[in-house]
Amino acid sequence: MKRKQFPLALWIFVGLLAGAAAGAALMCLPNGVDIAKSYIKPFGTIFLNLLKFVVVPIVLFSIASGVISMGDISRVGSVGGKTVVYYMCTTAFAVILALILASAAKAMNLFTPLDTAGLEYAPPEGQSLMDTIVAIFPSNAVTPLASATMLQVIVISLLLGFGVLLAGDKGRVAGDVISSFNEVFLKIMDLIIRLSPLGVACLICPVVAENGPQVLGKLAAVLLVAYVGYIVHAAVVYSSSVAALGGVSPLAFFRGMAPAMMMAFSSASSVGTLPFTLECSERLGARREVASFVLPLGATINMDGTAIYQGVCAVFIASCYGMDLTLGNMATIVLTATLASVGTAGVPGAGMVMLAMVLQSVNIPVEGIALVAGIDRVFDMGRTTINITGDAACAVIVSKMEDRRLAKAEKK
Ligand code: ASP
Repeated sequence: MKRKQFPLALWIFVGLLAGAAAGAALMCLPNGVDIAKSYIKPFGTIFLNLLKFVVVPIVLFSIASGVISMGDISRVGSVGGKTVVYYMCTTAFAVILALILASAAKAMNLFTPLDTAGLEYAPPEGQSLMDTIVAIFPSNAVTPLASATMLQVIVISLLLGFGVLLAGDKGRVAGDVISSFNEVFLKIMDLIIRLSPLGVACLICPVVAENGPQVLGKLAAVLLVAYVGYIVHAAVVYSSSVAALGGVSPLAFFRGMAPAMMMAFSSASSVGTLPFTLECSERLGARREVASFVLPLGATINMDGTAIYQGVCAVFIASCYGMDLTLGNMATIVLTATLASVGTAGVPGAGMVMLAMVLQSVNIPVEGIALVAGIDRVFDMGRTTINITGDAACAVIVSKMEDRRLAKAEKK
């Protein structure tokens, strides 16, 4: 049976508007920014902490119980394969789109070149591709859960599910315990989500109060190009893929996703938004066992919005240094930004750190990141919204494909 339309959606929207209006008002007061930072931001942090607290048990139990309910290890492989292909293709498309839009904006002289003299930015130590792969596998069953290292939590959850399946009758009790905990944590998640109108207001208010004046500065054109990229990507790629492959109309998809998108916009954290993304995609018809695997994976490795941001910033920063990117440079950016999105954690500001890797790959000075760092949060709100929307589109599509596969298998 279909549940009622998400009744909280409207309230979250009201919270978003009220928080933004309060932020704009505080911006105009002499001590307003301090008030927003000291007295309002902590409540936003409490809300985000609660969401982060519930994320690890939700991922652990829902993936494990998803695997158990699939009843067949090979089905996990088939879901995983489709998911990774969708994620990689859409991310590569996102970078290409960003490079085209930013190059056009540059050709039209929309970007104001900024002075690059004396810029400083120390990129964190890079990790090689092999290190990244090794880091997916936990050497300990507890630490990844405590530190919320998502890819390792996913591996633990999958192994737990496989273990229960392979143990057969003897694993039944463990399976029941996992599914019972899964239900319990879903209920806790529901409780936390009920706080979201207030949480969203407290998250957005300090962001508006702190960033308001800077956004109107010289970076407005870069910001605009990134947001045009975000919107075009969602309108073209997600609309067409959910309609063609997922059997959901684009309007219904975006309406159903609105609560999660607003949460992503105000929190700038894909991982923090995960409880919302799960809830919304299930309401859009995604199967729970598929969504509980595809979404946590996507919150960690699928970052289309981040890829768009990186493409746009690479072109902008290069232009500030008087560099023109060749077609070869652009191809390198597509590759590195797609890989960088795999290594980007779903937390605020992570995409900016990975931008260093993209710039280095084509010899653009990484200090250029300092040019866009001041308003990173404003880029981040949009890119996180796109990141989680892409994850949900994949969950809906892969679920539909699984439906078809199972229907075929039943007919045989
Ligand atoms: N904040 C983004 C996310 O959570 C990652 C990024 O900084 O690009 O999806």
